[in-house]
Amino acid sequence: MKIALFSAKPYDRRFFDAANEAHGHEIAYFEARLTCETAPLADGHDVACVFVNDFVDAAAIVCLADRGVRMLALRSAGFNHVDLEAAEARGLTVARVPAYSPYSIAEHTAGLVLALERKIHRAHARVREGNFALEGLLGHDIRGRTVGIVGTGKIGEAVASIFSGFGCNLLGYDVRENPACAGMGMTYVGLETLFRDSDIITLHAPLTPETHHMINAGALDKMRDGVMIINTSRGALVDTAAVIEALKTGRVGSLGLDVYEEEEDLFFEDQSSRIIQDDVFSRLLTFPNVIVTGHQAFFTVEAVQAIAETTLANVTAFENGESSGNELVPK
Ligand code: NAD
Repeated sequence: MKIALFSAKPYDRRFFDAANEAHGHEIAYFEARLTCETAPLADGHDVACVFVNDFVDAAAIVCLADRGVRMLALRSAGFNHVDLEAAEARGLTVARVPAYSPYSIAEHTAGLVLALERKIHRAHARVREGNFALEGLLGHDIRGRTVGIVGTGKIGEAVASIFSGFGCNLLGYDVRENPACAGMGMTYVGLETLFRDSDIITLHAPLTPETHHMINAGALDKMRDGVMIINTSRGALVDTAAVIEALKTGRVGSLGLDVYEEEEDLFFEDQSSRIIQDDVFSRLLTFPNVIVTGHQAFFTVEAVQAIAETTLANVTAFENGESSGNELVPK
């Protein structure tokens, strides 16, 4: 099949070219993000292959369908950026990569927790300046802390396994309980109890109307003073302005973000010579107890390889008129 791969980075080309040896599709790589304006690049292609910050709204879908695109192949698990109703209305098949390596995201989550708790980012900067003073670097043991996991699916379960190994108490909140998490000693509680009783809160639920801004001023008021919040899920689970206020009062003791609600215009690009226009994001970067990474939690060899392999297998199944099992339909 002819695939137009949007938001292409050099690593996409490397991993997709390797995975494509088993499939023989014709892949055109476009650096542009998919929008209605860039959709004409897909002219004459059967498949548009998109990543998390490609904007696949109804308008873009109409533009793609008008140009003969019949399938949307998502290189992601999350699909909040795709208008599934619009895709169905135009007869486009949509398939995602439901699981690649939950460990990649879970391990990055653990990395953020450890870096924040032991102030490794600050220690690194100090030592490079020849400053070996310890004042200001005091942390807590992770062992014995209570970790509240919101969303206990594949990634939440891998996070639970890591922090169970650290000797933490595990609290969980999900609309559907995961027996594997309960088996690790996780106690499922209501969201308010999780907010009240957790030292560390980590988010692993998808972005939906129900989870949008679930960490807002009201939720922050219920949390322990000095709580650590980690978000490696989707930016809009957190009301950034509210969390900034809570960082200023000390209610939030530290914050680790791999995702940001307005990340589309920032992440995945080198912005180092530009002036960042997003004042909320810029304010976040001023706190010594905040670490932001640019949506890289998935970025391991194992995960990117699996993304390429599953995406192309989804396309091959579509070509053969078969189901990959990874198709998405509107609820
Ligand atoms: P999953 O489907 O296995 O698990 C998601 C869990 O969230 C499920 O158990 C589901 O029941 C639960 N959930 C749904 N609605 C909820 C609600 N309203 N409240 C509480 N829980 C709810 O998905 P996963 O593979 O574990 O991925 C989780 C999320 O991580 C994805 O949706 C995606 O947004 C994000 N993600 C981020 C990266 C990254 O690089 N930062 C990479 C992959 C995935």
